[in-house]
Amino acid sequence: RRRKMIGLQPEGEIDWSEYRGIMVVVEQRAGHAKPVSWQLLGEARRLADKLEAPLMALVMGDNVGHIADEAIGYGADIVYLSDAPELKDYRTRPYSRVCLKVIRTYKPEIVLMGATYTGRDLAGAIATHLPTGLTADSTQLDVDDERLLLASRPAFSEKMLATILCKQFKPQMATVRAGVFQALPFDTGRSGEVIEVSEDMREEDIVTKVLEFIQDAKQVNLEDAQVIVAGGRGVGGPDGFKVLEELARTLGGTIAASRAATDLGWIDHAYQVGQTGTTVRPKLYFAIGISGAVQHVVGMQNSDYIVAVNKDPNAPIFQIANYGIVGDLFEVVPLLTRAFQER
Ligand code: FAD
Repeated sequence: RRRKMIGLQPEGEIDWSEYRGIMVVVEQRAGHAKPVSWQLLGEARRLADKLEAPLMALVMGDNVGHIADEAIGYGADIVYLSDAPELKDYRTRPYSRVCLKVIRTYKPEIVLMGATYTGRDLAGAIATHLPTGLTADSTQLDVDDERLLLASRPAFSEKMLATILCKQFKPQMATVRAGVFQALPFDTGRSGEVIEVSEDMREEDIVTKVLEFIQDAKQVNLEDAQVIVAGGRGVGGPDGFKVLEELARTLGGTIAASRAATDLGWIDHAYQVGQTGTTVRPKLYFAIGISGAVQHVVGMQNSDYIVAVNKDPNAPIFQIANYGIVGDLFEVVPLLTRAFQER
């Protein structure tokens, strides 16, 4: 049965040609920008140059002027800065109000944000108000000759990559997974414009209140980790991860896992790296007792350095590793831990 699209048709004629440029919504918490925002600016810079259009960033928060400056160093030409006490903690209403105002005033043709919990919430709220489409959780971006955004994302249980277009409306919107793109090197010499944006808001009018922000001790933050020690089926059970935990602790890193290990219930699914898990881009990634299946590799291949430990010299993981150690992980990992502790 055909369904009619309700509410998507904007009222009256809209001149879409007024929409120009790419805008990245920068995500921050407690005055620190999330790495995904700089990764997105890096990729958006490439797209903006292809479109010969400006690259804009939107920074929202309380006392976040320094993040606007950072956005310029990471590639933005223009930064819209909304700095107000009401924006201290993320809340859908005030944040989406500012976003909508900036989009309606400055008319970017493409709007991008991280596919984080915040980005997913905010992008959905904005898309319904504009109204336009939204491609969620993209892993590839490009633009074509007609200035259409080609946002690709895994579909059908990750069995294929679907490229999704929004032909009728502007801005074209996408959220993008953390870790799939690379930030440009920070350039202190770049210049850009910071435009302050204010929105008439009163705390009394905002229904949601943030009383306290409590970080869940068990919350896994693989996306921002600089060192990851990942274990696979080779660790043999939940106790095997204790050996890895010690190495991770020594290096100030976090543990992670392959799907084989999470499916077996040895470790929570939140730790899974790969196609159906998290995409990571740490400085150092240990793949321990992990064979190197393509679905795992797509989630970690952009790490700066990959160290593989595997008892099978023919394991595919060695093909992408910078350093490979052939041996039993229960002998090798404690030796590595001790060597790092002694340094
Ligand atoms: P195995 O392939 O069984 O490898 C274990 C390795 O440990 C072997 O190389 C072995 O030589 C080594 N080993 C064993 N004992 C020792 C020891 N004592 N010391 C040293 N080495 C040892 N996988 C993911 O990881 N992430 C995903 O997001 C993901 N998504 C998927 C999505 C789909 C649609 C499908 C079909 C699959 C997906 N998979 C994913 C699964 C993937 O195909 C592999 O099955 C999985 O990555 C294998 O995990 P593994 O390397 O830990 O296990």
